[in-house]
This record gives sequence, C-alpha cells and structure tokens, in this order.
Amino acid sequence: MTQQLIAPQSQPLVQPEEKLKPSWLNIFILGSFHLIALSAPWFFSWSALGVAVFFHWLTGSIGICLAYHRILTHHSLEVPKWLERILVTCGALALQGGPIFWAAGHNLHHAHTEDNDKDPHSAKRGFWWSHMGWLLYPQDKYFDYDQYKKYASRVDRDPYYRWLNKYFALLQVILGFGLLALGGWSWVIYGIFVRTVVLWHCTWCVNSATHFWGYKNFECEDGSLNLWWVGILAYGEGWHNNHHFNPRVAKAGQRWWEIDVTWWVIKVLQALGLAKKVVS
Ligand SMILES: [Zn+2]
Ligand SMILES: [Zn+2]
Repeated sequence: MTQQLIAPQSQPLVQPEEKLKPSWLNIFILGSFHLIALSAPWFFSWSALGVAVFFHWLTGSIGICLAYHRILTHHSLEVPKWLERILVTCGALALQGGPIFWAAGHNLHHAHTEDNDKDPHSAKRGFWWSHMGWLLYPQDKYFDYDQYKKYASRVDRDPYYRWLNKYFALLQVILGFGLLALGGWSWVIYGIFVRTVVLWHCTWCVNSATHFWGYKNFECEDGSLNLWWVGILAYGEGWHNNHHFNPRVAKAGQRWWEIDVTWWVIKVLQALGLAKKVVS
C-alpha cells in the first residue's frame, strides 16, 4: 500500500480576531494523567496490563467509536435505548467529555472540516492544534454547554445524557475505587491512567494524523485520509477518508484489508437482533 504525504497548508495558530487563552485546569488534568501514566514500569503486572487493554477496548471501541461516534453522532445504527445508554456510559468512561460535548464537536468537524473558525480541531491550524492544542486552548463556543448543545440536540433531549455530560468524571472515580479494591494500585495506574492516556492519543490521532498522512479511496473536498496504523489503534476510525466521504455509513473500513474492529461488534449486535437500521 503506497502512502502519500499530504500536509494541509499551515495557517497561523492564532487568528487576528481571537485571543486563545490556555486552560490551566485542562493543562493540569492532561499533564497529571500523562505524568502518572509514566510511572507504569514501577507498577507493572500482567493482570494490570490486561485490565488496561480491556478498558481501552471497552471505552474506546465500544464507548467512543460505537456509541459516541457511530450511534449518537452519525445515527449509523439503532440499538434499544437501554443498551444505547449502557454503551454511551462506556464512552463517558473514556474521559473525552460528555456525550453532548463530544457529538456536538464532532458534528461541527464534519460540517466545517478544516475551517479554522468553525472546526474545533481544524487540521489547517497544524498537527498539534488538531491533536491536543484545541483542548489546551479551549474556545468557549465549543466548550460552553449553552453554546454547543444545539449541535447535538437529539443527544441533549435525553436527561441521562445531560447528566452524563456534566458528571462523567464521577464514573471514573467509582471505577478507580473498584479497581483499587480488586487489584490494588497497579490496576488503578494501568486501568485508569495508562489506558486513558493511550486512548486519548489514539482518538486524537483520528483528528490529527488522518488529516495529514495516508491515502484516499474517495475524492473528498477536505484533506481526510486513510491511515492504516490509526485504523488499527482507533478500532476502525483511521479509515477517515472513507468516513468523511460518507459519514453515516456504519462500516468505516471499505477494502478487505481495512480492518474495522468496531464493525465486527456491530455485526454481532445485528446477529443478536440488537442493532437495527444499520446504514450501509
Ligand atoms: Zn476528520
Ligand atoms: Zn464522524
């Protein structure tokens, strides 16, 4: 598979009409998670690594890719409400914000891809901006509930999702105490900190790397590309050119080698009669 290097033209990070201010709270949270995750070698055990891998998959593939992305944001399939809420709860455990915040930001990304004013993580502002800079210098219009909720109004109608949107971090604390009780500090370090930091970067690569490197199956107006290693790390979401070409399609991988692990779960749910109206 040949890869092309297609770098969006960089524009200045700070536009003349706006002043970006750092969020010290976000910098502290992201910074401390990274620092604590770096202590992993001193807490290693095979069971802790297994816990990290399991929760990476549960919160990443099931929570973010299936629930937040394909169900809530793109309505690519329907599952019973009780199941949807369980899956969305897994997404809230990924510590990537609540479901309304996530769906609203992602809707804006698709509606205004690579528009520096309207795409929360426009790749035209550079790799680091699209990867994590937009979280460290948050703009009110994307982070203030009253301003962003209209971009995910269907999600906002559910009272449980409104609760999750505010209190998703509470679930992480409960999970942390559960892991501490079951496996001690090594399970907490791996199951919460290592897993969360690694998953953050896997998800963020979908916003950054797949708008910089890879190949195209389809001619899109934006710079989205398919990147094999993000396809693997982000459970199918790295086939980003396929996805931007037709965002509602439930299956992100289109060619036989474009492995889409999240799609396999959708197939299982379909076989069990739990996934309906799967968009193909
Ligand atoms: Zn994109
Ligand atoms: Zn999408």
